[in-house]
Amino acid sequence: MKGNLVFKIFFSILFLGVFLGYSYMHFSSGWFTDEFSETAASISEEGEPASQDTAAAEASVQPTVEPTVEPTEEPGSDLPDVDLTSWEMILVNKDHSIGEDYAPPEIAELDDNGCPVDSRIADALTSFAEGARAEGLSVYLSSGYRPYSEQQYLYQTKIGQVGSAEEAAKIVTPPGTSEHQTGLCCDITDIYRNPKTTDLENTETFQWLLAHCQEYGFILRYPEDKQDITQVMYEPWHFRYVGVEAATYIMENNLCLEEFIALYDEA
Ligand SMILES: [Zn+2]
Repeated sequence: MKGNLVFKIFFSILFLGVFLGYSYMHFSSGWFTDEFSETAASISEEGEPASQDTAAAEASVQPTVEPTVEPTEEPGSDLPDVDLTSWEMILVNKDHSIGEDYAPPEIAELDDNGCPVDSRIADALTSFAEGARAEGLSVYLSSGYRPYSEQQYLYQTKIGQVGSAEEAAKIVTPPGTSEHQTGLCCDITDIYRNPKTTDLENTETFQWLLAHCQEYGFILRYPEDKQDITQVMYEPWHFRYVGVEAATYIMENNLCLEEFIALYDEA
């Protein structure tokens, strides 16, 4: 009997030792096996809602588990290094008036019709138009820089036609809130078509301009699916210069300018 008791105590101590050693290997850093780490990682990847018990168990294990998968990239974490205060990024919309006094520092007049734009985008816009023309497409620079006074005239005229400022503002942007006052945009149409209807999107010219605008630093400023954000109706003729980097990001990620700028606030 006495020998049996010694035997039991010996094995109890042995068992306790093995148990403690095993536990140490699992819960201290650097000791768990790869197999264990994969198992733990696969649990967190699947993202199954854990019960309170397993959540508690995972909480005690997780700090020791090295993630085997990189965390998913945050939206906007690959944003280009763009200076939002630069002239290229001026935002003008119904919430951001550019004021009565703003005018481009210098005006350039392009094409035979002398379409006026901010001279800083003249080369880019010329290359853009020439790129389309090189494909045999017809391009007409319909409207560029528009001074405050001209916008005011258009707006007042529209109020006279429709009877109220509220209704007029749905069609013509109130003075100070038109992007045309920056001289950084241009209405581009096919000269052979009725210039500014959404039918324009069916032209080869528009299809080419849409596909290539970012290569020249331009974006389609008022896309069809962004009207609730831009507060401007779909305009398949209005292209805005923002520089190649920003334009590429905006077009590739299907954004409007308001959404692009907001990404920098969130970052
Ligand atoms: Zn326009």
